[in-house]
Amino acid sequence: MIPHSKPTIRRKDIRAVAKVMRRRQLAGGKIIAEFERLFADTFSLNHAVATSSGTAALHLALCALDIGAGDEIILPGFVCVSLLQAIQYVDATAVFAEIDPKTYNIDPDDVRRRITDRTRAIIVPHLFGLPADIEKISCCGIPIIEDCAQAIGAKYNKKPVGSFGDFAVFSFYATKMMATGEGGMITAKSASLVEKIKDMRSYDGKPNLKLRYNYKMSDIEAALGIAQLKALPQFIQQRIQIAEKYSNEFHNLAMQLPHAPRDSGSVYYRYVVRLNQKAKNIIKLLNDAGIQARKPIYIPLQRLTGHRGYRITEEIYRSTISLPIYPSLRSGEQRYIINTVRQILE
Ligand SMILES: *Cc1c(COP(=O)(O)O)cnc(C)c1O
Repeated sequence: MIPHSKPTIRRKDIRAVAKVMRRRQLAGGKIIAEFERLFADTFSLNHAVATSSGTAALHLALCALDIGAGDEIILPGFVCVSLLQAIQYVDATAVFAEIDPKTYNIDPDDVRRRITDRTRAIIVPHLFGLPADIEKISCCGIPIIEDCAQAIGAKYNKKPVGSFGDFAVFSFYATKMMATGEGGMITAKSASLVEKIKDMRSYDGKPNLKLRYNYKMSDIEAALGIAQLKALPQFIQQRIQIAEKYSNEFHNLAMQLPHAPRDSGSVYYRYVVRLNQKAKNIIKLLNDAGIQARKPIYIPLQRLTGHRGYRITEEIYRSTISLPIYPSLRSGEQRYIINTVRQILE
């Protein structure tokens, strides 16, 4: 079976982790601080705070904004469930916006239509590695949380994603652009909110009983994070090469290829194509041929909350599939995937 995704772990990554193990300093310490600094520098961000996951980072962003019951948060329904859970943690209300059928990212015009006087934040994921139209959304004066979990290293109009919103969150889950097993990062424009986030990340050594969490990363994960971050430009390059090869081979088949704008290109966390037939059936045929193709998201979020409508989100969910893409995908494996897709669709 050719897996749908796989982390790229090199000897360097293993050495970096082994070094921390030998030091017997496993909890978060000076390596976390080094990872945070390197991460912020790499993407020209002011501050970065490492967390135990991307979901924890999202939760901390909502806490930093004092969001609670009765507050509304706008997000797309076409994204992973993590966002909805973070909204549940603070007892707020999810308001879904439609997506753009070409990019699969949140539709800025629909965001504008869904704003009410209770809207307290907009979460903008850069889905599958492709930057969302963040500048079109940034004009409404409501705090923006960029969800860069799938797009670390991508650029919108030549500027790194994460540098547009009031907050940006990242994930280093095992299958993401760079992996630490579990882990995340949050950045904020406001220095005082960064301090608030740092305080909420850890319960230890505090003189009062304000609500705090244990959302820290370990030095083991941070050491892996540093090694992976250094390899990120190479990982992205390899992903782009694999994506371009798919697109060259598929352009004459009956499918919509991933949107590829020139100035805000994808880092191809996923290679997602849209078919003019039920994705489910094609996924089954690919799985039977030993290729782990997948639905690009698990379930449209509005189905979990019982909201109706969302014709575009539902249609994209029904018709899209995600093919294997990762730096360690071998060219022979990709050739087999290409030939199999051709046989099925031609
Ligand atoms: C993976 C992911 C998250 C959650 O990150 P975890 O580290 O798994 O908690 C949030 N948003 C998006 C878009 C993701 O892909």
